[in-house]
Amino acid sequence: MLPDQQLLRIPGPSPIPPSVQRAMSQPIIGHRGQETKELLQRIKPRLKPLFGTTQDVFIITGSGTSGLETAVVNTAHPGDDVLVIVTGAFGDRFVKIAQAYEIKVHRYDVEWGTAVNPEGIKEYLKKHPEIKVVFSTYCETSTGVLNPVQELAHVVHQNSDALVVVDGVSCVGAVKTKMDEWGVDVLVTGSQKALMLPPGLTFVAASERAWKVIEDNKRPRFYLDLKKYRDNLEKDSTPFTPAVSLLFGLEQVLKLLDEEGLDQVYSRHHLMMEMTRAAFQALDVPLLTSDKAASPTVTAIKLLNSQSEQLRKVIKKEFGLSVAGGQAHMKGEIFRIGHMGYCSPADVLQIISTIEIGLKKIGQPIDLGSGTRAAQEIYLSQEVK
Ligand SMILES: *Cc1c(COP(=O)(O)O)cnc(C)c1O
Repeated sequence: MLPDQQLLRIPGPSPIPPSVQRAMSQPIIGHRGQETKELLQRIKPRLKPLFGTTQDVFIITGSGTSGLETAVVNTAHPGDDVLVIVTGAFGDRFVKIAQAYEIKVHRYDVEWGTAVNPEGIKEYLKKHPEIKVVFSTYCETSTGVLNPVQELAHVVHQNSDALVVVDGVSCVGAVKTKMDEWGVDVLVTGSQKALMLPPGLTFVAASERAWKVIEDNKRPRFYLDLKKYRDNLEKDSTPFTPAVSLLFGLEQVLKLLDEEGLDQVYSRHHLMMEMTRAAFQALDVPLLTSDKAASPTVTAIKLLNSQSEQLRKVIKKEFGLSVAGGQAHMKGEIFRIGHMGYCSPADVLQIISTIEIGLKKIGQPIDLGSGTRAAQEIYLSQEVK
């Protein structure tokens, strides 16, 4: 292994493109100066297509969880009834945040590895008209499930007055997202997953319907008060010192996404998902999720009895390749490959062929090369622009 080569393929943080790295090395500028104002002015309209919204997208300095917390404290009041759909570790995080703020949580658990069925939510809301907000996860990073957010938002609005809050941290910028059209009221993402930046920024947008609730919400809040971000962004500024270097990087990321074209970005992720899934199917190593529930940004593969942990050790030691393990009760049972952001089909071939060696070394009876071949065949069967 090369001492300074890191093949970082966990589902975030993800690798940074060299041009973004260079943009971030610019000398720092004053956050209240004209240059920062102009930078925010240029960034502001270009974030909207990623969210699929005409609303402003607010930039908050903090990790993705601070974005989730922003959604909670702005939409809910202590004692409010909210529904949290838990399809994995990140749904569970919404539960913990809401409980910390003394919000009454109705927890709707879905078996890990499967997506929520919106019909179940319909029934729940009919029985519980007191629910004011429904929290959900778009890509559940802990299992590699992409939840059907469009159908979910539709069902919520048909059967209640509740707001729909969506955690899109591990997929906005990599999968189709139509916040306005789908009726998503608050959408959150982060910098270090599909957006090819270091950790440190979170992005939040709110619908008009959500703004009515936010404005009337009298719960105490300060750093995460969305009203402050809105008042400031109107003047092309932020209420507190932003992570200026990350803003330099963000402008370059938006340029890269424009150059490739969002539709192409989405199909690249879809292709990488299909290549990865075909590879493990060919190797006869089971996938955690069904084809229908699979996320284009992260794939979870089942390897029981801590074989996942053994595999992770071998590929890290020999190739510097990092993939993630399972979270909570899935630790030792699965490993997860992040194929998002600065990741190409060529990278996927490298990941697969490297993992094949790892599987051999831990004693899995695989047919060496069959996974790589299946991925190559998927690549060749697609029309690539
Ligand atoms: C990574 C992630 C988060 C936020 O995590 P931070 O570590 O706080 O940045 C939230 N939700 C999902 C779905 C994620 O993948």
